[in-house]
Amino acid sequence: METLRKILEQAETNGVAIGHFNISDLVTLKAVFEAARDLNVPVIVGASEGERQFMGVRQVSALVKSLREEYDFPIFLNADHTHSLPSAIEAAKAGFDWVVFDVSTLPFEENIRQTKVAVERLKAMRPDILVEGEIGDIGSGSEIHDAAPDLKKGLTNPAEAKQFVEETRVDTLAPAVGNMHGMLKSMVAGDTRKRLDIKLVRAIKAEARIFMTLHGASGTDHDDLRGAIEAGITVVHINTEVRLAWRRGLDSALVKQPDEIVPYKILPHVVDSVKRVVAARLALFSIGRRARPASH
Ligand SMILES: [Zn+2]
Repeated sequence: METLRKILEQAETNGVAIGHFNISDLVTLKAVFEAARDLNVPVIVGASEGERQFMGVRQVSALVKSLREEYDFPIFLNADHTHSLPSAIEAAKAGFDWVVFDVSTLPFEENIRQTKVAVERLKAMRPDILVEGEIGDIGSGSEIHDAAPDLKKGLTNPAEAKQFVEETRVDTLAPAVGNMHGMLKSMVAGDTRKRLDIKLVRAIKAEARIFMTLHGASGTDHDDLRGAIEAGITVVHINTEVRLAWRRGLDSALVKQPDEIVPYKILPHVVDSVKRVVAARLALFSIGRRARPASH
């Protein structure tokens, strides 16, 4: 089994991105895993603090590990948006492969200081674990929002990204490049799409020279996603679209079978609904440049 770091390196070489999908339950995990296996591409599942509180930190880790081992398949687990060191340590101890240490709402210097400590502590415990830091403002809550925030104010500055990466020694960086968590009602209706600043992605990549993760990518314009991957994004997070598919799948299953009470007869419809969304996203992220031989 390749390590997660190796998988990110291969994705970068091939000009593709790895899909990251948040899960809150076994239904979504099954959907993500089946979609990735059908397409035969590596995949990452994420659980934020709220999601892992619901599933159980050790329980979600055991589920993902059991799939990886039984099927010998590259599925990895990320502790998404972890806002404190104890919570990060708990996830590392439970066997998570990656931690997004997110104190991005703090002032820049304090964000650097706390992230640096988190990297040191986590690597001392688990040298193999990946740690992601975040600068800039991409909002919070993978939900349906009424109003659009002013994303221009929180965009990541390339020089700050370079300083942040050098001082904290994170493995990956989550920048703000027009992305945001959640979707607007107009995006759910299909009337509007998020647009990304591809030039900024390229500039941050050139300065910081690090793997970059695009958070809050639900509802993003397809060409912008392709452009961002081409410009240096290696992992793309999708959560709101998954939650929307889960809700719609459940609604329609209950309407179709009003008298059914057997969970394993209702929930496969939800799996299918989520799986269609995940498969479409994975297919989009996997259209690469032709694989290039290493330059050395
Ligand atoms: Zn995120």
